[in-house]
Amino acid sequence: MNHKSAEQLSIEAKELIVNYLDKYDELKNKERTAIPSQEMPSQEPEVRIKNLDEVALGYTIEQARIEAMRCLQCVKKTCVDDCPVRIDIPRFINHIAHAEFENAAAVIKEASLLPAICGRVCPQEVQCQQTCMVGKALKDVDKAVAIGRLERFIADWERSTGKISIPEVKHETGKKVAVVGSGPAGLVVAADCRREGHHVTVFEAFHKLGGVLRYGIPEFRLPNDIIDREIDTLTQMGVEFQTNFVVGKTRKLMDLINKDGYHAVFVGTGAGLPMFMNIEGENLVGVFSANEYLTRANLMRAFEKGKADTPIYPSKNVAVLGGGNVAMDAARMAKRLGAENVYVVYRRTEVEMPARKEEVAHAKEEGIEFYFLQNAKKILGNEKGRVNAMECLRYELGEPDSSGRRRPVVIPGSEFILDVDTIIVAIGNGSNPLISQTTPEINVNKWGNILVDETQKTSVDRIFAGGDIVLGAATVILAMGEGRRAAASINKMLADEIGKEKIE
Ligand SMILES: Cc1cc2nc3c(=O)[nH]c(=O)nc-3n(C[C@H](O)[C@H](O)[C@H](O)COP(=O)(O)OP(=O)(O)OC[C@H]3O[C@@H](n4cnc5c(N)ncnc54)[C@H](O)[C@@H]3O)c2cc1C
Ligand code: SF4
Repeated sequence: MNHKSAEQLSIEAKELIVNYLDKYDELKNKERTAIPSQEMPSQEPEVRIKNLDEVALGYTIEQARIEAMRCLQCVKKTCVDDCPVRIDIPRFINHIAHAEFENAAAVIKEASLLPAICGRVCPQEVQCQQTCMVGKALKDVDKAVAIGRLERFIADWERSTGKISIPEVKHETGKKVAVVGSGPAGLVVAADCRREGHHVTVFEAFHKLGGVLRYGIPEFRLPNDIIDREIDTLTQMGVEFQTNFVVGKTRKLMDLINKDGYHAVFVGTGAGLPMFMNIEGENLVGVFSANEYLTRANLMRAFEKGKADTPIYPSKNVAVLGGGNVAMDAARMAKRLGAENVYVVYRRTEVEMPARKEEVAHAKEEGIEFYFLQNAKKILGNEKGRVNAMECLRYELGEPDSSGRRRPVVIPGSEFILDVDTIIVAIGNGSNPLISQTTPEINVNKWGNILVDETQKTSVDRIFAGGDIVLGAATVILAMGEGRRAAASINKMLADEIGKEKIE
């Protein structure tokens, strides 16, 4: 990708917008699709690999307005159909085109509570932007209206102008809701239940709030400050937070209802159990799960050399196994922590990689090397038990498997050695078994994911669940969607009870 500086993009947008300011409402579809799509300004690659600051810098006002003017304001809103929380996309975009940013923010907030987060990390290219008519007309999904970037622009504009509105909270109902886990699913439930006037307590196992948003996704993609501000809104609404509280250990799940007087519980404990390759040498010093590596860096601030209690392992040559967002984050973090060479080793090709395209492009710009159609066979160590190499195999693609992706098939005799001192395994996460082991009443499937009905209710009365603990490792917006549904069910259950109590 040819990197254009933020200044250059800003100048180009200022020059371009004068052509459209007076005639935006009269533009024909053909003229709108001819407006150049706006590139996201970002830090220079050689600068950003030496810091943890956010890579993408956000649109300027002119860029946002021009990008918004590309929207055709379709009558059949395919983009809205593909948004898991059904934001009225054309309506908020139309407000941006007219520079009515407060109105745009209000439209987004009707459906989404965490726009600054979703605008940054949602996989828009396989959701709203995938079926955008502009992308279709130009036969290139990368040329679709940049809905996610516009959502981020509005959320950032709101924050920078201090115009964040605190959602209204109804009169206290006297009902208590417990939320287990402070990831996106839990935060949405906390907000939606608090709005109805219920007392909400969020219990979080870690000492910091935000779930994967905080300990998984690095600051260079999602700054902690943004998570803090979203949580601050909840605190101002009256939500109570208890950190260092492991439900299942500190207190049993059923005790929250039977002894502590909670009228409903939402379990949003995520999928935090790392999976490994189960190959020889995986217990050598220098092998990390991506979870551990990223948690040490993000949550324990291991990059603060000399200051952090949990300094990171010094690496020169790092192999990251996997091809998803987690693999990209781990690889880019390793580079920022000082590794000279970082290789992403993935057993399929780039086409099948589940990582967001934009993150792969950023990783490439930052000098991460991709080894496609290869995988680890064995990890080799030295006499001190530390990793010093990895034996790999080459693959070719066969017929599609149950995931719909072409199955990687080993090429016999293709073994070769890669010299590495650190290996980060990023091949997926399973559910943490703590809740299911300590709450035998709750039904789970064979992977330990909690089973729920269409209202997000579990097999136990008053206990609801959602997000990764139900879906398996999924996405922020899907976790939020499940939280929304669960909160609606809890609110309905409690409203019915309050109604009955009044009659009695
Ligand atoms: C490195 C990484 C990068 C990702 N990148 C993206 C991306 O770009 N886009 C995207 O959409 N998705 C991404 N995801 C996935 C996304 O973050 C998750 O799908 C989402 O966070 C799930 O939300 P959740 O609320 O279900 O759970 P989580 O975010 O996992 O939160 C669960 C919370 O529950 C707490 N908890 C667990 N057990 C207990 C207990 N017993 N008691 C109390 N608290 C408990 C945990 O500490 C945690 O804080 C990424 C994931 C990772 C790991
Ligand atoms: S599909 Fe694309 S062009 Fe049509 S309304 Fe949605 S964002 Fe605008």
